[in-house]
Amino acid sequence: MKAKKMIINMMGMLSLVFLALSFNGCSKDDTSVSPLVTNDAASKAALIDYTLTDLFDAASLSLIDSLPNDLISQDEKDALTYMREEELLAHDVYLVLSQLYTKPIFRNITKSEAVHAEAIRALLDKYQLADPALNHVAGVFNNPDLQSLYTLLASKGSASLIEGLIVGATIEDLDISDLKTRLSGIDNADIILVLENLERGSRNHLRSFFANILLYNGTYVPQFISQEEFDSIITTPYETGTATGNCIWI
Ligand code: MN
Ligand code: MN
Repeated sequence: MKAKKMIINMMGMLSLVFLALSFNGCSKDDTSVSPLVTNDAASKAALIDYTLTDLFDAASLSLIDSLPNDLISQDEKDALTYMREEELLAHDVYLVLSQLYTKPIFRNITKSEAVHAEAIRALLDKYQLADPALNHVAGVFNNPDLQSLYTLLASKGSASLIEGLIVGATIEDLDISDLKTRLSGIDNADIILVLENLERGSRNHLRSFFANILLYNGTYVPQFISQEEFDSIITTPYETGTATGNCIWI
């Protein structure tokens, strides 16, 4: 009896170790360089234009599907409903800005946000939850807070290119903060996987927006995450995914 209990305990510990190994964040691309210390032209262009592509493909979808369909809590449902529209808010604001300004960063990150919103939709589908953005019309949101935020940011960003870039940093700053808060109340492995990947995408977006702000001699002070966290992001390289493991896009 005692031995059986010990085996069960050991198995439990082993699966915890496995989980820790599986979901410890995506690997960093050690070949890239920090926004503030970029010297070679190719890395500089990649950072300024945001040429990374988030690709949500069949493999990403099957990775999500391969994880268990655990019971979903109210916090988890709320997180998915909220984040689906928050990703679309980012997409829709950048769409407006990409029509005003020719800088590639706006249209490249617009594409990323469409991928992020799609990843959340895949989870809503998996758990058979209603999509708050069914038949989404750009700039129209179910959540009244996100609706006011969209109106405010789209208008602010339209004032000038530098204001557009600052709005970009603001959205990513908020996104990282919201994802962190939501993640603290979530234990389903598939939801953690998607939200951690969204957060990684947001850190990369923040690196690029901030590099552009510096290029135009502007400044940005974080409004939602701490200065310490902001500094740790903008002084570290782009994080790229690996084809396997815990990264669902590049
Ligand atoms: Mn995003
Ligand atoms: Mn983003």
